[in-house]
Amino acid sequence: MQLINRFAEKLGVHCLSLHRARPEILQVNVGKLCNLTCVHCHVNAGPKRKEIMTRDTIDRIIDWLARTDIPTVDLTGGAPEMIPDFRYFIMQISALQLRRHVIDRCNLTILLEPGYEHLSEFLASNRVEIIASMPCYTAENVNAQRGEGVFEGSIAALQLLNSLGYGIDPHLPLHLVYNPVGAFLPSSQDELEADYKRELKKHFGIVFNKLYALSNLPIGRFAGHLRHNGKLEEYMELLIHAFNPATISGLMCRNTISVGWRGEVYDCDFNQQLGMQWSNNGRSKLFLWDIDPDSLEGRDIMTGDHCFGCTAGAGSSCGGAITSMS
Ligand code: SF4
Ligand code: SF4
Repeated sequence: MQLINRFAEKLGVHCLSLHRARPEILQVNVGKLCNLTCVHCHVNAGPKRKEIMTRDTIDRIIDWLARTDIPTVDLTGGAPEMIPDFRYFIMQISALQLRRHVIDRCNLTILLEPGYEHLSEFLASNRVEIIASMPCYTAENVNAQRGEGVFEGSIAALQLLNSLGYGIDPHLPLHLVYNPVGAFLPSSQDELEADYKRELKKHFGIVFNKLYALSNLPIGRFAGHLRHNGKLEEYMELLIHAFNPATISGLMCRNTISVGWRGEVYDCDFNQQLGMQWSNNGRSKLFLWDIDPDSLEGRDIMTGDHCFGCTAGAGSSCGGAITSMS
């Protein structure tokens, strides 16, 4: 059990505090079902997981969203596309009076699985932005982290997305996500992006918009992997040592509401995996439909040692590095 919150202490040392700004993104984790079982997964997702969002919960989220002007809905999982009501969810968002931007956090390989043949066309026709995991541009590294054959499947999926206009048409953004293949911090996002663009174009004819460099947070399957190899505390020390106060104002927990597959609310997807659900002053747990979106500015953010994963080096958020420092 964690007794001391070293992250809160570090904020104090730097005379910093972490509070919410106005919500701009509703990030919905629709469940833990996934066709892959990646080593770095903070969700412990996989093909045998049963936790998936029901249509009733989707309807309650849509009702709540309709009463707000939150401009972006970010769907994640697991493989969010695998829940039975994934298309229903997107169509309900599209039907809202106020238009919202939708993001699908996609592992790419799902687009080629049997039963998902027309999914990429569906995403394109609804102008869904795709943010796709691609931890390297070499087969060796991707397959080591994500499983045999995942690199080849990811390349085929990216070529399919390019053929539909993704990464080319300004209405169809395609961003890739890099995360280190081991217990180290990402190098410069700009340099990585240049390398990815050059290599993917040269070898596979693939184009994309931006590369987001994310750090691996020491939770979930990645923490288990580090613990198993006796590297967990060493990695924590690396993150703590690399604390960068300039990342605080850009942390995603400031403007994102994270919702779980039952509708429960958290400050971010990482807190969600750690069960740090919002509560009513400790009395009762809160769900999205209990929240007044206009009352969130200034709310305290729940933190823990894992938060050092977001503030190390250039910082790490759902949109990649927070500062330009590497
Ligand atoms: S990292 Fe993403 S693709 Fe890999 S198992 Fe986890 S949810 Fe699935
Ligand atoms: S893990 Fe990162 S995003 Fe989540 S609360 Fe901590 S600093 Fe914020």
